[in-house]
Amino acid sequence: MAGLFFLTLMPLSLANAEDIEVEQQHNWEELSTNHEVIPTETHNYYYWKNFIRQTGTCEISLKLETVVYYCDLHNHTKTNSNLEERLHSERH
Ligand SMILES: [Zn+2]
Ligand SMILES: [Zn+2]
Repeated sequence: MAGLFFLTLMPLSLANAEDIEVEQQHNWEELSTNHEVIPTETHNYYYWKNFIRQTGTCEISLKLETVVYYCDLHNHTKTNSNLEERLHSERH
């Protein structure tokens, strides 16, 4: 009787312990921070030079900051990307 009770109880307690560990215990530490610029689209703009209207082409890029976190408890990583800026290649 005692052996049967032990066998039915074991899998349940193991499952509970794993759930708690996955949900609560992370030790996220910042591993690295990367900045990247991704070109997205171009647009035309007008400017005046010597009283003549000129057309310029400007490229819009997105500046992203990507932070990589590492959890040494489970040996896994996660990344977080933030949009920092919209950049115009030309001054206008
Ligand atoms: Zn973790
Ligand atoms: Zn522009």
